[in-house]
Amino acid sequence: MEIENGKVVRIDYTLKNDRGEVVDSSEGREPLSFLHGVGQLLPRLEEEMVGHGAGDTLEVSLSPAEGYGEREEDKVGQIPRSSIGGEGTLEVGTTLQASGPEGETILQVTEVGEENVTVDANHPLAGENLHFTVTVQEVREPTPEEKEHGHAHGPGGHQH
Ligand code: ZN
Repeated sequence: MEIENGKVVRIDYTLKNDRGEVVDSSEGREPLSFLHGVGQLLPRLEEEMVGHGAGDTLEVSLSPAEGYGEREEDKVGQIPRSSIGGEGTLEVGTTLQASGPEGETILQVTEVGEENVTVDANHPLAGENLHFTVTVQEVREPTPEEKEHGHAHGPGGHQH
């Protein structure tokens, strides 16, 4: 069976950046299950998988625009240290959650000063070329329940 919109697909994947560092991978976890065509994965990545079947391995490279967008410098700002709740470790790389009109935003701390903290709301992979290696494990028809819910169930998908 070939991958097309509406099929449930199970994949193993590794994502590397331009420096060859692994930034995400299903290795050591369940393969990822998803319903193809509903936008669970990056659209360009789903597109490249069309026509492939179980056992196929494909390499897909995406530009930042096809991935998580370009970095936007206006998403970097300073907030007073005193406005951050809780003690504990506040250091470069710490992530903070902020609630705003567009929902939850993840802020990454990029600099810690005496009074202010510099935070970055860009996606951690914004501005990066993405290099995926995807191995297709399974392609199947969705169950009626999966169709109704609009997502894949079972290992690597929704557990409910
Ligand atoms: Zn469901």
